[in-house]
Amino acid sequence: MTRGNETSGNKATHATIREIINTYMEPISAYGNLPTSVQVKDTLNGVPDYQLSVDKKTLKSFNDIMHNMQRKARLNDCIEHLQKSTFTNEDELENAVTAFLCERQWSNTKLKKQCISKLKVATKERNDFRASRRNAQRQQEQQMLSSVQDQKWPLVVIAGSKHSRKGRTVLAKCNIPRNTVVCDYHGELLTYDEGLLRYEQYGDNNENVYMFSFNYQGRNYWIDAVRQCRCHPKTRIKGRLLNHSMKTANVVPRIVLLNQLPHILFFAKQDIAISEEILFDYGVQRDRLSELQDWMLS
Ligand SMILES: [Zn+2]
Repeated sequence: MTRGNETSGNKATHATIREIINTYMEPISAYGNLPTSVQVKDTLNGVPDYQLSVDKKTLKSFNDIMHNMQRKARLNDCIEHLQKSTFTNEDELENAVTAFLCERQWSNTKLKKQCISKLKVATKERNDFRASRRNAQRQQEQQMLSSVQDQKWPLVVIAGSKHSRKGRTVLAKCNIPRNTVVCDYHGELLTYDEGLLRYEQYGDNNENVYMFSFNYQGRNYWIDAVRQCRCHPKTRIKGRLLNHSMKTANVVPRIVLLNQLPHILFFAKQDIAISEEILFDYGVQRDRLSELQDWMLS
């Protein structure tokens, strides 16, 4: 059996060609020029270990593979540049790809098709991700809203005055992880003027003032928790019983929009251990105030 004209060199497999390109040639980049046939020939003569026949067919294989490698590099470049863009429809995406390739003078139908298809997948994945994040957020808001509506707040419990010289306290009923909503500051939501009037009235009557003032989107509000709220006439509202601590506060009030109304929810600032007292820094209210602040502090 004859083995053909083996002496003139081995058949160049794709794997071998890639190996030679990657090892002995300048890296194939999206932007650079591809090596010429002469340069390929020179390379092959410089690496006799492979014993490839330097014929037209081999040179064509090199050329094809180098073009493929460059197309992939250009594809990656295009994806990298455009994947963060927002496209409202497929035409917009295709136009962006056309413009990108045209600007670089990379006219190649296959490349264009690949860019478009890859970007479509990336855009879809991102949209799906966004939708699932939106859903998760909606669910979380729904849960917060039901907690506000039923006022159960199962993670905390009101303890009697014997636990503390400060009177009633609110304690963690279990270990509470950081960033968990613990309870809300619950009461009647008032406008700036209404709140101011109430505040003065309570002051005149020497009543304990459980009021929370805050600014949301440029408007000042109050939450009046002095009287039992009308929505929960028989519930002991936990949020109004949180004691103050500047140094050891373990929850922080945040404004959350639920049902189109701002609510004050207390989030765990850190992991809270079971039986720890829930404390917040009343002073943080001041940060949220503008003109109200001076009036309150005077
Ligand atoms: Zn209520």
